[in-house]
Amino acid sequence: DRLRLDDKVAYVTGGGQGIGRAFAHALGEAGAKVAVVDLVLEKAEAVAHELSLKGIKSIALAADVSKPKDVQRIVDTIVARWGTVDIACNNAGINMNSASEDTSLEEWDKTFNVNLRGLFLCCQAAGRIMLNQGYGKIINTASMASLIVPHPQKQLAYNASKAGVVKLTQTLGTEWIDRGVKVNCISPGIVDTALIRSEALQPLVQRWLADIPAGRLARGTDLQAAVVFLASEASDYMTGHNLVIEGGQSLW
Ligand code: NAD
Repeated sequence: DRLRLDDKVAYVTGGGQGIGRAFAHALGEAGAKVAVVDLVLEKAEAVAHELSLKGIKSIALAADVSKPKDVQRIVDTIVARWGTVDIACNNAGINMNSASEDTSLEEWDKTFNVNLRGLFLCCQAAGRIMLNQGYGKIINTASMASLIVPHPQKQLAYNASKAGVVKLTQTLGTEWIDRGVKVNCISPGIVDTALIRSEALQPLVQRWLADIPAGRLARGTDLQAAVVFLASEASDYMTGHNLVIEGGQSLW
């Protein structure tokens, strides 16, 4: 079965909750060993525990993906433990909400540090291992906001950072494909996770709901088959692709 990931070694950043947690379960159920990486160790441990209850080999690692030393440490730890990294799910991301004219430099930098610098660091550290072994699958989490501007606005730094994720994915995807490393991204629409549950975002969420032809927000489970597909040999001819899963929202 070309969708199986048996004996593959995977990690998921931002794996302690939300979309990353859903990805970790999906990859593990498809047969991969999974390192759950999160800024908050307890969250990573809780998810690693859930996986182990399903018989999935897993470890929990704490890291801030925007810090080069943290990123190198998680990759080194995984390689020391399981020998390599075959599947890198670079999913950690943050979202802030302010009018563009009020967006502080601090907010801009923080958003870009996690969403884009973190992705660069992870792709580079995992990519070096993968290029060395001539095989690897990198799956970055972008967003539908990489394609459209979900209205009402107030997501300047987020939208710009996610458009950057797509271009980073396209560039690495074409640069590394002839050495066996495929780099793709997934662009979810509005997913019902903690990221969008803050009180400040609720008026926006209601507006967004009205914009979704599918008539509901996405759930983590709506994204699980996609990450397994992009992690598997079934997608070996795909690279630099942005797989959009948004219930039709970007088409309206
Ligand atoms: P979430 O806030 O529920 O979970 C994010 C996880 O990432 C948390 O466990 C958090 O601790 C961790 N994290 C945050 N900063 C980190 C850092 N610097 N280093 C390591 N881990 C860190 O968010 P989510 O909704 O699951 O989002 C996951 C990804 O999906 C993000 O990249 C987000 O931009 C993207 N996304 C989300 C939606 C949505 O509607 N929820 C839509 C499109 C894209």
